[in-house]
Amino acid sequence: MQELSLVMGIIDLAPMEAKAHGDRDAEEILLDIGQRGGVEMESFDFAWTEGVKDTILEGTERKINSIRGKGKCLDYETELSLQQYHDPCPNCGEHQIEVLSGKEMKVKTVTLRIADCELIKIIRNP
Ligand SMILES: [Zn+2]
Repeated sequence: MQELSLVMGIIDLAPMEAKAHGDRDAEEILLDIGQRGGVEMESFDFAWTEGVKDTILEGTERKINSIRGKGKCLDYETELSLQQYHDPCPNCGEHQIEVLSGKEMKVKTVTLRIADCELIKIIRNP
């Protein structure tokens, strides 16, 4: 299940950031998830809930940037907005589509608490 390995990758990464900055609590984590990446949010949520137990991310607020799918039809060079993973080109019905965006799966920022009312935001993928 790719959702599980995605979650595990995030869970591995967050403590490294926290340690690198003095073993801080993670307040918030922001993820970019493309709508064409094939991630099922229901499975992702389930994997997340299970995966973060007893980790630094338990209780951390999770935010998700849902990145719209955008592609280009190779025949017509037209730019398309694609909502679903398997959408064909609406102009010609073909699947010869170069995906321009929507396959993202990454940690965008991790926000760490460094003092009672001081937070720092670590930008992983600007
Ligand atoms: Zn087309």
